[in-house]
Amino acid sequence: MVRFFKRSRHKPEPLVRELIKVVGINQVLYTAEDLIGYEYDATIERAAPEVVVLPHTTDEISSVVKICRQYNRPIVPRGSGSGLSGGSVPIKGGVVVSLTRMNKILDINIENRYAVLQPGVINLQLQDRLATEGFTYAPDPSSQRICTLGGNVANNSGGPHTLAHGSTVNHILELEVVLPNGDIARLGSRVLDTPGPDIRGLFAGSEGTLGIITEITAQIIPLPQSLKTMLAVFDTVTSASEAVSSIIRRGVIPVALEMLDQEIIKIVEPRIQAGYPLDAGAVLLIEIEGIPDAVDADSELVKAACEASGASEIRVATSSEEREKLWEGRKAAIGAIGAAYPAFYLLDGVVPRTKLPQVMEDVLAVASSYGFKCANMFHAGDGNLHPTLMFDPQNEGVLDRVLECAGEIMRICVDSGGAITGEHGVGLEKTSYMEWIYSQDDLDAMENIREAFGPADVFNPCKILPNGHGCAVGHAAEINIAMGGNQTSADIYI
Ligand SMILES: Cc1cc2nc3c(=O)[nH]c(=O)nc-3n(C[C@H](O)[C@H](O)[C@H](O)COP(=O)(O)OP(=O)(O)OC[C@H]3O[C@@H](n4cnc5c(N)ncnc54)[C@H](O)[C@@H]3O)c2cc1C
Repeated sequence: MVRFFKRSRHKPEPLVRELIKVVGINQVLYTAEDLIGYEYDATIERAAPEVVVLPHTTDEISSVVKICRQYNRPIVPRGSGSGLSGGSVPIKGGVVVSLTRMNKILDINIENRYAVLQPGVINLQLQDRLATEGFTYAPDPSSQRICTLGGNVANNSGGPHTLAHGSTVNHILELEVVLPNGDIARLGSRVLDTPGPDIRGLFAGSEGTLGIITEITAQIIPLPQSLKTMLAVFDTVTSASEAVSSIIRRGVIPVALEMLDQEIIKIVEPRIQAGYPLDAGAVLLIEIEGIPDAVDADSELVKAACEASGASEIRVATSSEEREKLWEGRKAAIGAIGAAYPAFYLLDGVVPRTKLPQVMEDVLAVASSYGFKCANMFHAGDGNLHPTLMFDPQNEGVLDRVLECAGEIMRICVDSGGAITGEHGVGLEKTSYMEWIYSQDDLDAMENIREAFGPADVFNPCKILPNGHGCAVGHAAEINIAMGGNQTSADIYI
């Protein structure tokens, strides 16, 4: 079912004036042209906010939240807008609180191994700073050049290194948050154990529905003593998938185990020259780290597993430049698709690792039955797939077919014992799939938790849970088209 959301008809002036009083004129955007950049994230969803606020402090955010409550406007927290599930798209209008100006690294405490961070710090900015001290922060989404740490916590983001280190929730010690009534709370603690329920953990993956994260204390770890990056080349996705299981069966957990299939290699290699063979059916990018002896022993096991699965070539990066080039091919893959095709739709599902060969075959068959090219680059070690459908938005009715095909692919993931998202969150995009993996009681429990923080239509309404109050099931893109809107253009699909 698709229901229509109309843009707010409220006159913005009194609300805007109140907000300006709190944060200053340069921190409030409300003209149509200024708001365009806040209508979308990195997926196909799109909706306009009424106002955007760019605060500098937690106290300002607390006041902004109180004003929004007074004026009865929904609030949508936003980092860089690189999300891939429509999480920061203000589907019911209201006030977007952009955290990008709260971008300071407040403290790096090497002795106690933590960093205190404002939510708008860019993931790579933290990594670069820590590297100068011989340390790192493990979660490294492929979007790390642009995404914020607040967005990472809110989406419980993963990345290539999730396989060995776990996702963002495993690296957060303490959070400062502004709750839906404007109160400021600190959750968790800077020491490892905190008495009471783990509300800090609850905020990881809450996608901006429980409050606004205003400060993060994150665990940091020393850079590894030794590191090996390998590229294993296979004729087929099936044999590369078998190698993934074989590596883990041999007792090795690489820090990263990423796969790129033929379609994406053909897109990436001419643009990035990462060194992936153009005639490969699939490549695995494998990274092992630790003490030198263990890295040597593990890399021998990895080589044996790849050979046993039919690898035609196994290459080890011999310099940091070579390693970076191999990684650039993976991390710039999505951008390369954007350069090669007018539009694409990137999916996120997770399946049991052992089901990868069959699932990959089924996914490619479904995409081809709809006539779409499908490129795959994904966190194979986690069974976290990102099938990406390429299409031309000028083709009549293509978006409906893309969404239908995407639904079938998600169904394949669920039927294999997997789930509808591995790391990008449910957002707006996947609320209707939640019933595939949770019972009504499960969903009620989640809704009750949300209501305990504040009314569900206040903070990032219509996200995560299906059938929220006043929310439609469906995509903003569908809604926009159904309204005969002129907002669709090629760029909104990437
Ligand atoms: C090229 C590309 C590669 C990607 N690779 C990965 C990957 O490897 N792994 C991965 O997990 N994701 C990946 N993503 C998705 C995305 O980058 C992550 O989900 C990221 O964490 C989003 O951060 P952001 O700052 O852009 O947040 P946004 O997109 O702005 O927001 C995401 C969600 O977080 C909420 N939010 C943001 N900031 C706050 C805050 N301070 N307090 C409360 N809620 C907040 C928003 O309301 C929204 O629901 C990729 C995206 C792109 C475009």
